[in-house]
Amino acid sequence: MSVIKRFIAGAVCPRCAELDTLRMYRDEEREHRECVRCDFTDSMRLDGEPDPRELETRVNKAPKSEPVQAQPIKFFPNPSSKKH
Ligand SMILES: [Zn+2]
Repeated sequence: MSVIKRFIAGAVCPRCAELDTLRMYRDEEREHRECVRCDFTDSMRLDGEPDPRELETRVNKAPKSEPVQAQPIKFFPNPSSKKH
């Protein structure tokens, strides 16, 4: 069974803002959209239900960065070693 991908007339890619670059296709339970210009992909369930799962294609995971508390360290060189 081959997947038929059709261009969506008049659709604008939300990522690269190009017109008529979006294609759509369906599988058994989802409707997918993809852009042929950039690598944008999107999908929604055919029954309109919200997707309970996290999308696996989601790439905007921001790495958790914790503020680093810098402890000032005062370093005193041993004065006895520099005596001439
Ligand atoms: Zn695009």
